[in-house]
Amino acid sequence: MRLSRSFIPTLKETPSEAQIVSHRLMLRAGLVRQTSAGIYAWLPAGWRVLQNIAQIVREEQDAAGAQEVLMPTIQSADLWRQSGRYDGYGQEMLRIKDRHDRDMLYGPTNEEMITEIFRGGVKSYRDLPQNLYHIQWKFRDEVRPRFGVMRGREFLMKDAYSFDLDYAGAVVSYRSMMLAYMRTFQRLGLKAIPMVADTGPIGGDLSHEFIILAETGESGVFYDAGFENIDWLNGNFDYTPSDLERFFTQMTSLYAATDEKHDTAAWATIPEARRREGRGIEVGHIFYFGTKYSEPMNLRVAGPDGTQITPHMGSYGIGVSRLVGGIIEAFHDDAGIKWPDAVAPWKAAILNLRQGDAATGAICEDVYKKLQGNALYDDREERAGAKFADADLMGHPWQIIVGPRGAANGVVELKRRATGERQEVSLDSALSQILG
Ligand code: ATP
Ligand code: MG
Repeated sequence: MRLSRSFIPTLKETPSEAQIVSHRLMLRAGLVRQTSAGIYAWLPAGWRVLQNIAQIVREEQDAAGAQEVLMPTIQSADLWRQSGRYDGYGQEMLRIKDRHDRDMLYGPTNEEMITEIFRGGVKSYRDLPQNLYHIQWKFRDEVRPRFGVMRGREFLMKDAYSFDLDYAGAVVSYRSMMLAYMRTFQRLGLKAIPMVADTGPIGGDLSHEFIILAETGESGVFYDAGFENIDWLNGNFDYTPSDLERFFTQMTSLYAATDEKHDTAAWATIPEARRREGRGIEVGHIFYFGTKYSEPMNLRVAGPDGTQITPHMGSYGIGVSRLVGGIIEAFHDDAGIKWPDAVAPWKAAILNLRQGDAATGAICEDVYKKLQGNALYDDREERAGAKFADADLMGHPWQIIVGPRGAANGVVELKRRATGERQEVSLDSALSQILG
């Protein structure tokens, strides 16, 4: 994309309404604009990031055997009356009436809807296990929407729902999702700490929140330093029951993660040198809830001997839009965003330091073509200083800086945003580093 032709409305001033750095940078870098309290429009650069994150989430869900669907945002209240949650859900639910005076709602989550859909499509124990997910907008009328997309009212969530014949099967599904989550956050460049969460009346230990570390986070977290480097995940586990058991055992040995609300079950067992304490942002939550929805909503399948089985379910959420803010909280400096390669809107920015000069223009056009949609070309009639500042603000992993002196010698300057390192290299070397 050519910057002169693109809609990336960056801001020089710090927006006064934004309290935390990710919110400020998302507005300043032209990623989003608020359209009403807690509701955001995603502009071209922000939308690219959101889609990149969603794609990584999708690939890891698929690898774990989950199947993608797409359910609607608007739901019938009757579904929620079947599960008994309609009256209890409270003011976070946006309730709507259609023209026939029927009660509808904008879905805050989809347990009821998926249970009904699944109920209509399975008959026998042979149809299970299954796990269905979608990546869809949710609405929760939060009392205090704040921190930009981190606590919005409309937000994008990946939510998966597993169906198993019994508890043992549900444990396998749960562990699969936990492994998929650890891999997802690792690919996003994040250190995610699984923290034991409340299971309420369900009991047991099958509920975890995933917390990424950030000083501005709303959750306190105490954890084992073992989670700071999870390279031991790589290539080590498949999605087989025995591998998953091995994985879960390894994770459990590190599970001291806890918050103020939880018992210090676990904290005392961590060797002192490995104890860490911090604040973080909840980016995911996985939960086994047994027959909480399948029972009242009459989801039954015939077992091998003809008796009716009530499936065990779990649900697994990731805050896809919250992750955009969370990633910026983890990767930024005073000058702006430092996107991890995996989610950046473009891999590189091309900075033409002398717009209108034939030699720099030819090099820029050449490299722009060779990067095939992976680059944002700053072809504006702007001072070099403004181009440097905007590229740092927008956070492209690489900057290819093309000036007249380099053009005469056949070299460009290549800057790595994450480290600030600069090298003078040939065009080919720049391209191979960026695309490599
Ligand atoms: P929180 O405790 O932050 O309010 P939650 O426990 O209500 O979140 P879940 O129902 O577990 O959230 O939803 C799954 C994921 O969706 C969360 O882990 C979070 O990443 C994301 N999420 C929840 N509420 C919001 C929101 N208001 N804005 C953006 N993302 C959200
Ligand atoms: Mg939660």
